[in-house]
Amino acid sequence: MKLVLLGPPGAGKGTQAAELCKEYNLLHMSTGDLLREAVKNNTAQGIKAKSYMDKGDLVPDEIVAAMITDKLKAVDISAGFMLDGFPRTKRQAEILDAALIALNMPLDMVVYFATTEETILSRLTGRRICRSCGRIFHVTNIPSKKEGICDGCGGELYQRNDDKAETIKNRINVYNSQTKELIDYYKQKNLLRKVSGDMDVNELFIVLKDTFKKSGLL
Ligand code: ADP
Ligand code: ZN
Repeated sequence: MKLVLLGPPGAGKGTQAAELCKEYNLLHMSTGDLLREAVKNNTAQGIKAKSYMDKGDLVPDEIVAAMITDKLKAVDISAGFMLDGFPRTKRQAEILDAALIALNMPLDMVVYFATTEETILSRLTGRRICRSCGRIFHVTNIPSKKEGICDGCGGELYQRNDDKAETIKNRINVYNSQTKELIDYYKQKNLLRKVSGDMDVNELFIVLKDTFKKSGLL
């Protein structure tokens, strides 16, 4: 299965991607995770990306596209992959198309998480991340067993800098002005399947598995 998860910040792409990749043994590629890793390690790409991320703006296409195309070439994607948070602009989508054609691994499906602004705001303001393993929690929707501590690895949970109210507004604007047009881009390629990002984690997980089965991808 070669998939892209598309949708606004807070739609639940990262949470679902982690579960689905575990279940189906797919490679999870999140540009947000790759960028946060690069920032943490102070790499040249991370240093450039940080100021954009802190404001909630998109990191320049060349940086993220290079990260993903390098990764696609370096790892074994024969069992399939799930791209989460990439592409986010038409330019990125075109770069991805070209890279996948060269690898002879075209996309099977783009899942669009249609999500209301109310959901987005409550998901992002309540989101907490494990500093060590990156696992995603939510203060009310997916609480950890011990407050502030990751269930998986015991790491410390933190709130992302860009999950603060001021930055969230900008991220929603950026999504509307630069990413939303990819819905039509993939619709025209006949790859788009729409699901509701407003459902709770377990409900949506079931709907997604069902969507893959019905499309003959499983
Ligand atoms: P979310 O989906 O909640 O917005 P991500 O972890 O996907 O969070 O992204 C966090 C930030 O990383 C974005 O606001 C942006 O600055 C940067 N980023 C991630 N993916 C991309 C991308 N494909 N293109 C440009 N910037 C990106
Ligand atoms: Zn952890």
